[in-house]
Amino acid sequence: MASDPIIGVLALQGDYAAHARMLSACGAEVREVRKSVQLAELDGLVLPGGETTALLKLMENTALEEALVAFHDDGGALFGTCAGMILLAGKVCSPAQRSLGLMDIDVERNAYGRQMDSFESVAEWLAADLAAADDHKPLPLVFIRAPRLVRLGQDVQALARCRGDVVLARQGRVLVASFHPEMSQDLRVHRFFLKLVCQEKKGRLLTAGP
Ligand code: GLN
Repeated sequence: MASDPIIGVLALQGDYAAHARMLSACGAEVREVRKSVQLAELDGLVLPGGETTALLKLMENTALEEALVAFHDDGGALFGTCAGMILLAGKVCSPAQRSLGLMDIDVERNAYGRQMDSFESVAEWLAADLAAADDHKPLPLVFIRAPRLVRLGQDVQALARCRGDVVLARQGRVLVASFHPEMSQDLRVHRFFLKLVCQEKKGRLLTAGP
């Protein structure tokens, strides 16, 4: 039987500690990641909210960006929230900046206004399995200088929507949220990521054989 998944949280900048608390509360083994060598042994990685300009600067002159792409290509699952979603996107605008291109989405930075315009809302589940698992209870959302998903590629599944925008989406083993699930008391989004990680891990072990 597969062992429990090990989840890393990119701990360069931003609210990584809150993600670590949520993942621990869901029963995961959590490790902080600051260097590419720390990606070894992980089954999944969370890229937290923060400030992408600062994150990109901190990753300059390190091998971390290439290592994150290799981690994904080797079967690792990724969850990007807010700034993390911007880093994973295929294309970033407002203004344009480099990104890892691990998901076929376009995102517009700071699309909901400035820090002062941060707001809380609730989402409507779009994926039937997610909604049914929780009696369709709405998902609380916290937006902080949030990016907007302005284009979803055809292989991207929209999972939740708020005010007409998709706010949670998945493509294969990459999950993104434009909001901050770690700032609510609701563990459902982190639990969903752990489920995805376990499915991917099981698939990898089966393909690898005995
Ligand atoms: N506005 C930030 C950026 O563009 C993201 C904000 C957040 O992660 N809360 O990088």
